Amino acid sequence: MVYTSLTSPENRDYTYDLKIAHLYGNLMNTYGDNGNILMLKYVAEKLGARVQIDIVSLEDEFDKDYYDLAFFGGGQDYEQTIVARDLPAKKDSLEEFINHDGVVLAICGGFQLLGQYYIEASGRRIEGLGIMRHYTLNQKNNRYIGDIKIYNDEFDETYYGFENHQGRTFLSEDEKPLGRIIYGNGNNKKDQSEGVHYKNVFGSYFHGPILSRNANLAYRLVTTALKNKYGQDIPLANYEDILAQEVPEEYGDVKSKAEFE
Ligand code: GLN
Repeated sequence: MVYTSLTSPENRDYTYDLKIAHLYGNLMNTYGDNGNILMLKYVAEKLGARVQIDIVSLEDEFDKDYYDLAFFGGGQDYEQTIVARDLPAKKDSLEEFINHDGVVLAICGGFQLLGQYYIEASGRRIEGLGIMRHYTLNQKNNRYIGDIKIYNDEFDETYYGFENHQGRTFLSEDEKPLGRIIYGNGNNKKDQSEGVHYKNVFGSYFHGPILSRNANLAYRLVTTALKNKYGQDIPLANYEDILAQEVPEEYGDVKSKAEFE
């Protein structure tokens, strides 16, 4: 049963309406990922949008025409196994949503499951949705844990985060990374990539949650979804006017371990 977990207060005037599907929100919600939902709501309301957030979980239909944005958070291997069994039933609708420029934020386990497959820490293979071509291998007795900073040259934006994953993800040729590593491990510690940007899908290993630490990315996601729905020329407040002043200049950067020592 799809159920609404959060809505905007009614006693305000809204210009727009934003419907968010929180995919498997009752299962995939590690390390504060649900905070992304709160941040999406915060930014959308500042932009004049009334927000409704629904949890779309096992055996629920994902209605691609109803939702404007989908969020798919991270999970432990156990939860990922359960979710993977349900994915084939949602594949067609999610694929159409993504191919029609639907906005998706996918973190860690969610990012992995949008791809072809994920090899668990135990070595077992979990099939992903296969909508995107990346794949995720495991690693022996190790996880990538720690602070991370990346730069996206297409947007000229820097993102800060905290990663915690055992999976090593490799992107396909039609996928761009969300950013290039400045410090941290990223997708696989080999090719300097972190996360993915494919159509309007933004995937990342950043927990913590990514959007409250990166208001620029939250603004990008919400404005893209609103423009998809209401037209590219709709009036929307600038990032500088509604969010930039809430993010101090030095915010984000942490001292590297070496600097502390
Ligand atoms: N279970 C996956 C991994 O360890 C994803 C973990 C997560 O979402 N944090 O790579």
